[in-house]
Amino acid sequence: MDIRWVGNEHTNSSSRQGYVPFVIVNHISAGTMASMDYWFTDPGNRVSSAHFGVSKTGTIHQYVAIERMAWANGLSSDQMSWATAPIVRQMKVNPNLYTVSIEHEGMDGALTEAQFQASVWLHRYIQQYILDKWGKDFPLDSEHVIGHFQINPVNKPNCPGPQFPWKRLYSALTPSEGGTDPMANLTDRIAALEMETKQLEQRLKQLEDYFQMDAIPEWARASVDKAVQSGLIDTPLNGSYDFYRLLVILDRKGLL
Ligand SMILES: [Zn+2]
Repeated sequence: MDIRWVGNEHTNSSSRQGYVPFVIVNHISAGTMASMDYWFTDPGNRVSSAHFGVSKTGTIHQYVAIERMAWANGLSSDQMSWATAPIVRQMKVNPNLYTVSIEHEGMDGALTEAQFQASVWLHRYIQQYILDKWGKDFPLDSEHVIGHFQINPVNKPNCPGPQFPWKRLYSALTPSEGGTDPMANLTDRIAALEMETKQLEQRLKQLEDYFQMDAIPEWARASVDKAVQSGLIDTPLNGSYDFYRLLVILDRKGLL
């Protein structure tokens, strides 16, 4: 997995003023990856930016360096009480100062499998980058990995959207023994087992159909007739593929 630097040569990033980032905010771009690239590099855009964008095919674009503050989830001081994320209420400063923002291509938060995997990889990359750069470690849990709607539920209630896979994301980001929500892991595992059972049932049905043929195959009909006439078999129907093949071989050898 790698990151393509797209940049943003015009504006839309500023100093972190000494804050070290330790919170990741997830967003939905409400559009395509191409429109995200276009908007974040448009000289006419003087209002917003994000550090990263993840496309439906799983490619990652970077617009703002992690060392810089992107303009993705700003709150003025009188809006601070809107936030539902505890960390935002505790910090009491512009959330852009201590967050890293990830945009996802899409509309309602549903991610493709490739996009989900790329996003999981990117969360870990950001965590490691911050550890390497500043020696600051933070867990990828529900306190430190949040959605834009938890910062600004008034204007951004649907960012990243109702379909965003929070449970799956947290369980992928936290080691199984230290998961913040063990039930989420269990639910996912049960779902996976149910899926596996369904696939096995389908496979079994296929095998049964294959081994138990409804009709006598055309290529075996003459041999089956002979076998019935000679009294070798009395139930010519519902034989397996191998059964019919054996009869044909016996017939060719002149044994029927
Ligand atoms: Zn957002």
